[in-house]
Amino acid sequence: MKPLHIGDITVTKAVEQVLEMERSYMFPQAMDEIIAPHRDWLSPHFLLPDGKIRMSIHSYVVKTPRYTMLVDTCYGNDKKRAARFGNMLNTPYLRDLAAAGVPPESVDFVFCTHLHADHTGWNTRLQDGRWVPTFPNAKYIMSHVDWDYWQTRKPEDFGYDAIQDSVLPVVASKQAMFVDEGYEIDRGVTMELMPGHTPGAAALNIASQGHRAAQVSKAVCTGDMFHHAMQLIAPQWGRADVDTVLANKTRRGFFERYAGTGVVVLPAHFPDPTAGRIERRGDAFMWTHA
Ligand SMILES: [Zn+2]
Repeated sequence: MKPLHIGDITVTKAVEQVLEMERSYMFPQAMDEIIAPHRDWLSPHFLLPDGKIRMSIHSYVVKTPRYTMLVDTCYGNDKKRAARFGNMLNTPYLRDLAAAGVPPESVDFVFCTHLHADHTGWNTRLQDGRWVPTFPNAKYIMSHVDWDYWQTRKPEDFGYDAIQDSVLPVVASKQAMFVDEGYEIDRGVTMELMPGHTPGAAALNIASQGHRAAQVSKAVCTGDMFHHAMQLIAPQWGRADVDTVLANKTRRGFFERYAGTGVVVLPAHFPDPTAGRIERRGDAFMWTHA
């Protein structure tokens, strides 16, 4: 992804993994006859010639004049996970991030759109057999509603392993902040709830504050509000949503609200070129690369 400038704020991407997988793994409903009329814009980035789909696990680096923020932290290394894509990884993510000018100590805020394993992994790293915060000077910003939701879960519930090794250590180190709708991290950078995938799933809005030279006036990091561009064809297709009805409503509402507005959308799992805009196409929607 090319660096994206929103006024005096710059967004870049730090990739952990690019994945190619069977379509049926994500969306069993995505039959050939539904996809075919959209192949022109889905290929080559989202849909491969053999019918598989491409996805990405990455973070966004948001640099404002004052702060360096990381949005979502991928799967992380050394973590035991049920998901094959996230189990016991050993990737150069942290080294790559430092090489791109973002050493761990330079990160002021980590924003987790939600608390699933592929969004919290690098919150911590293994040191002498213990999980310690990867970013020693950062505040970790998480959704209050999601935190409350996880309080009602049990250690044996699906997904709790990420809470244990990737969230609780930053709570223990007093680096966690649980925030509500509208929380402003810096001028123009605010949290907005987009519930459904998880009860308190959050997006990060980035607005240029009327910056005169701004070519892009607004961008939104949408987390897992949607996972793949195919959902623009059928917003009712969900993936691992806690509340499927609410997730569908949120997704369709977002597409309706942003189609044709020029706002740049930054999804959590879109492969290169990643940033794009939503447009209408017939009764549904489509994606154009930013
Ligand atoms: Zn995800």
